[in-house]
Amino acid sequence: MLIGAHVGVAGGYDTAVAYAASVGCECLQVFAKSPRQWAARPLRAEVVRAFRDAIRVHAMGPVLVHTAYLINLGSDDDILWEKSWTALADEMARAAALGADAVVTHLGTVHRRDPARTPERIASAIDLALAHAPADGPRLLLENTAAAGSTFGDGPEELGSVLGMLDVSAGRVGVCLDTCHAHAAGYDLSRADVWRSLIEEFDRCCAMPIEAIHANDCAFPTGEHRDRHAWIGDGTIGYGGFAAMFDQPALAGVPVIIEMPGDVPVKDAENITRLKRLRDACVEPAPPGA
Ligand SMILES: [Zn+2]
Ligand SMILES: [Zn+2]
Repeated sequence: MLIGAHVGVAGGYDTAVAYAASVGCECLQVFAKSPRQWAARPLRAEVVRAFRDAIRVHAMGPVLVHTAYLINLGSDDDILWEKSWTALADEMARAAALGADAVVTHLGTVHRRDPARTPERIASAIDLALAHAPADGPRLLLENTAAAGSTFGDGPEELGSVLGMLDVSAGRVGVCLDTCHAHAAGYDLSRADVWRSLIEEFDRCCAMPIEAIHANDCAFPTGEHRDRHAWIGDGTIGYGGFAAMFDQPALAGVPVIIEMPGDVPVKDAENITRLKRLRDACVEPAPPGA
């Protein structure tokens, strides 16, 4: 598994890559625009070029883009729903320009008027977004939530219900596991057997492997639906839980991204070191079929 961090781009995209390298990242995640705004200026050609150059120079990858938090592909409000898939298409285009390998997105909320229609509502938004995004662009990864309130995508079953309804974008979409969200949703990832059963559940419900991991420890007990990230080993998943993650053959080669609270560069340097220690202590398993 490759280890990296979500890094800020306020100082420039190329600077973000240099920062990532300086704290030990092997791969990284960025926002392709402000995560709390709908509109953004297009990425300038020289910004894109400098980012791609820095990625090459530092041999960094895979590169992931996380979408803005405003996107709600399940919204009841048709205007917001259309705004959401249009924004997702724009994120895909930005990520393609940056040479990203994958875009990670949250799905949004349950379709309140007709909750049974939620997977269909979200799937048609994804189909529309990808139909308007560059065909040879990055993959789109759907991220699990902490199963709090009316969010949709609370685990493999809900993610799979959307994946099963995709039409034009089938084959371009996968899944991303956030460890804190899964743990908060009730999958006790401090336990190796729960890691195994969660991976099996992804297999069964989504019929595809996990392609990226957001490795965040969890500040609250499992099953409390509270999404508060903690440093690796300081939360309720603990060192044992992340050691079990590195021990899963199905996850061999998957990029692992931390999204930590705290001050740069300490939060990133320290958490990457902790993960690398756990990875090094584990004999990395061979990928399935190898
Ligand atoms: Zn996320
Ligand atoms: Zn989170």
